[in-house]
Amino acid sequence: MSSEKSLAIVLRLVEFSETSVIATLFTEDFGKITALAKGARRPKGPFEAALDLLAACRIVFIHKSSDALDLLTEAKLERRFRAATRNLSHLYAGYYVAELLQDLTDDGDPHPQLFQAANQTLTELDDACDDDACDVARTILRFEMIALRELGHLPSFDRCVGCGGELPAEGRIAFGQLAGGVLCRECRAGQRQVVSVSSGVIRAFREFADPSESWRRTELDRGLRGELRGVLNHYLTNMLGKKLRMHRYLGVLAE
Ligand SMILES: [Zn+2]
Repeated sequence: MSSEKSLAIVLRLVEFSETSVIATLFTEDFGKITALAKGARRPKGPFEAALDLLAACRIVFIHKSSDALDLLTEAKLERRFRAATRNLSHLYAGYYVAELLQDLTDDGDPHPQLFQAANQTLTELDDACDDDACDVARTILRFEMIALRELGHLPSFDRCVGCGGELPAEGRIAFGQLAGGVLCRECRAGQRQVVSVSSGVIRAFREFADPSESWRRTELDRGLRGELRGVLNHYLTNMLGKKLRMHRYLGVLAE
C-alpha cells in the first residue's frame, strides 16, 4: 500500500454510512479511482467542503492493490463548480462531462490530457454566466471530440472509413454509426446503421476535433446543433451499448 497524490475531479458521491461517502474521482495521474472517504459527512470532517460534485481538488489516497476500495486521506479544494446556482444548461453540461468520464474511462487508466480538457471545460462552463445555448453546445462538443480522440474512439470525418478514399465536400454524406466514420458510396453498401448527414455537420465535427483552437471561431446554428447532437448521441449510445442518462437533458443545447 502506498500513498499517492494527484489533482482530481469529483465525478460521483455515494453515501456509505452515517459519516462516510464513496467518491468516484477522475485523477490527473491515475485515471478514475473509487475511494472511501471516512468522516466526509461530518460537519467538520477531514475533507471540509472539498468533496463536492465536479469540484477539482488535490487529493492524497492510499491505493489498495486488491479489489478493495482506495482510501482517501486528504482532499483540498482547488476549484468549485458553481454553475448550479446560476444556470440549468451549464449545470446539465457539467453533469454530462462527469457522466462521459465515468462511462468512457476505465479504472486506473490515466489520461492526463483528457483530465486537463475536462478541468478546462468545467472552468469555462462555470465562468460563462450568460445563457448562451450555442456557447454551451460548442464547449461540450469540443470536450466530446477531445474525449473520443484521447480514448481512441474518434470517428473518421475526413476519409472513408472503409477504403480511405476522399469524400465529396458538399451534399449529403453517409456516416456509419458502427463503422465509425464517413463512408463512400461503394463502402456504404451492406453496412448497418448508416445515417445520411449534411456536409455541414461533417465539417463542424472536423473543426471541433482539430487539435488547434479554430473551433472557437466555428458558429453552430440551431439546425446544425440539432443534427450534431442526433449523430453524436447515436454514436455514443452504440459505442457504450447504452443510452447516456444526460443525453435527454442536452436537448437544451440543441435549441
Ligand atoms: Zn470507401
